[in-house]
Amino acid sequence: MKLPFFLAKRFVAGESFTESIPKAKQLNNKDLKLTLDLLGENVKDRQMATDTVDSYIRLLEGIKEHGLISSISIKLTMMGLDIDHDFCRKKLFRLLDVAKEQDQFVRIDMEGSENTQITIDIFKEAFDKYGKHVGTVIQSMLLRSKDDINELAEMGADIRLVKGAYKEPAKIALQDMPAIREAFKEQAKVLLEKTSFPRFGTHDDELIDWLKSYTAEKGISKDRFEFQMLYGLREETMVQLTDESHRTRVYVPFGTDWFPYFTRRLMERKENIWFIFSTMFKK
Ligand SMILES: Cc1cc2nc3c(=O)[nH]c(=O)nc-3n(C[C@H](O)[C@H](O)[C@H](O)COP(=O)(O)OP(=O)(O)OC[C@H]3O[C@@H](n4cnc5c(N)ncnc54)[C@H](O)[C@@H]3O)c2cc1C
Repeated sequence: MKLPFFLAKRFVAGESFTESIPKAKQLNNKDLKLTLDLLGENVKDRQMATDTVDSYIRLLEGIKEHGLISSISIKLTMMGLDIDHDFCRKKLFRLLDVAKEQDQFVRIDMEGSENTQITIDIFKEAFDKYGKHVGTVIQSMLLRSKDDINELAEMGADIRLVKGAYKEPAKIALQDMPAIREAFKEQAKVLLEKTSFPRFGTHDDELIDWLKSYTAEKGISKDRFEFQMLYGLREETMVQLTDESHRTRVYVPFGTDWFPYFTRRLMERKENIWFIFSTMFKK
């Protein structure tokens, strides 16, 4: 059974790119940069993966055509990672050829831990070939991230640091919030020291305040890093950060395949569940 889209409207800009354009423009008009994300994951069929890459390419073209200030985020499992790694790599490189040609940027989102190593491997190859046109994500909750961040920072990679949205077992991931926050801070320090423009994806005031005071204390200027948040969450905080001359970017998901993304947002924060219930009763 497919749930009606109005439930997801708080977190998803539209069911198509066209439907999302007005929301994207509104955010750009508030001086917020964007990352557009066509929702979906775990494609099991080669034709579907090929169609997805075509949709990503059309998205890059649409961004140009509509004058949006936006990069894109993609998931390797939408490009056939579960089918065949080499097939997926070729699809990604096809997309990156277009991104390079059009001087655009593609970020490879990080998915569940079963895909961490292969995502990093494919990212490293892509970074060798496409440099500044590609970036990826590190999840601070994973125990391995301490090493991954050092290796990727040494390479000068463009990294978005997040806590991690997937439920992972205790043998490979930190489970409690204070420890995850500490790991995030330690990894943020490495990125700020070794990379030219790290991105921090969080809505957490403790981390936002820490990033502001740590960078001020170290004399790191506000145009050397970026705050990123998800569409539908804390927009007023993003506007305030922008007014304070911080670099900001909103991650804007769209598409018909919104259910897994929507579920992760609900599981993350009980207030989000209440919000959805209140939307249902208002309808
Ligand atoms: C731009 C972006 C991209 C992401 N990409 C990925 C990815 O590729 N892979 C991945 O695994 N995960 C990704 N994530 C999700 C991320 O891993 C976390 O699951 C998610 O951001 C929740 O963690 P948090 O630090 O934002 O705050 P939480 O841990 O959810 O909350 C911590 C505290 O922050 C405050 N807070 C949180 N939300 C709000 C709110 N709406 N209003 C007021 N206060 C609030 C509260 O005080 C709360 O107790 C991404 C997140 C962002 C922002």
